[in-house]
Amino acid sequence: MLVDGYKRPIKDLRISVTDRCNFRCVYCMPHDEYEWIDKKEILTFEEITRLARLFARLGVDKIRLTGGEPLMRRNLELLIAQLSSIEGIKDICVTTNGSLLADKVAGFKAAGLKRINVSVDTLKPEKFKEICKRGDLDKVLEGLFAAQKQGLHPIKVNAVIERGVNDDDIVELVEFSRDNGFFMRFIEYMDVGNTNSWTSEKLVSKKEIVEKINARFPLREVGRENGSAPAVDYEFVDGRGEVGIVASVTEPFCSTCNRARLTADGKLVTCLFSSTGHDLKALLRGGSSDEEILNFITGIWQVRKDRYSSERLEALQSSTYDPKHTSS
Ligand code: SAM
Ligand code: SF4
Ligand code: SF4
Repeated sequence: MLVDGYKRPIKDLRISVTDRCNFRCVYCMPHDEYEWIDKKEILTFEEITRLARLFARLGVDKIRLTGGEPLMRRNLELLIAQLSSIEGIKDICVTTNGSLLADKVAGFKAAGLKRINVSVDTLKPEKFKEICKRGDLDKVLEGLFAAQKQGLHPIKVNAVIERGVNDDDIVELVEFSRDNGFFMRFIEYMDVGNTNSWTSEKLVSKKEIVEKINARFPLREVGRENGSAPAVDYEFVDGRGEVGIVASVTEPFCSTCNRARLTADGKLVTCLFSSTGHDLKALLRGGSSDEEILNFITGIWQVRKDRYSSERLEALQSSTYDPKHTSS
């Protein structure tokens, strides 16, 4: 089995299908115009599928499609169908801001998609506009319910919590998910993205989030799915569902991190916080054989020693933290 420098296997491939987005969430993207990757540099669906097949041979069994906003990529259902047919891939998920979901979800379902994650940071329309800058909460909620109508399951609702912005929305989001059969997932605000001026004061820790929810809806810890999932899950004591919390900052999970990333322009990135990637597109377009590409990926994974979030926690605890601005 292929393992990295800390004996971590490669299991989960996060594929960015576009760098573009129709939102400008304050914690993620700059508000002004952006220098997008040139269209011809973006991997085609055939190129993505070829690479996914090779990653599956190395141990990947789970694929997440992300972005930017993945639904900005035209005909995404064609890619979902191609990826669904790869031997060894047991799970495909899409993470979306939900704005274009209502019109597209039936096609995704028909292509083989079973579950989806939708980002909703608040249920207050005005605040939604302040956070996402563009788009419309009603359209996102319409997408969520359309996904439910198509029978996707689970539907996870992701919210990034920032102090002073939406920490007062936690209980309302939980109530909404419980009432509608969604799985709520809170994400600690991270020092990722291009312009978010992260400081630890803006962080609302997992501990605080759990305390807020527990005071209203008592919780019992379940733990991490498969032992290596980013979220720690909790079930409601009254039996009405579960909630997950991704505590990248206060309880990093680098020691079990089996996630690789493929950028829209075909670079293999071994950590969310890594500023460099390894160019797979050059191999694809330069005529390399499958064996050559497999050897290249294997060589990169074998020496992988990323543990950025663990290092950040050590630095925060010893007051030597120096904010590093990388792009998600
Ligand atoms: N556009 C899609 C969406 O918003 O769901 C997919 C891409 S987005 C980069 C993936 C996830 O990263 C979203 O759930 C988003 O909220 C989260 N995210 C972005 N910036 C973040 C930050 N600074 N801290 C924590 N999570 C962040
Ligand atoms: Fe776009 Fe998602 Fe980033 Fe928001 S979090 S700006 S929706 S990529
Ligand atoms: Fe994995 Fe890097 Fe996140 Fe650690 S910081 S969990 S190594 S992606």
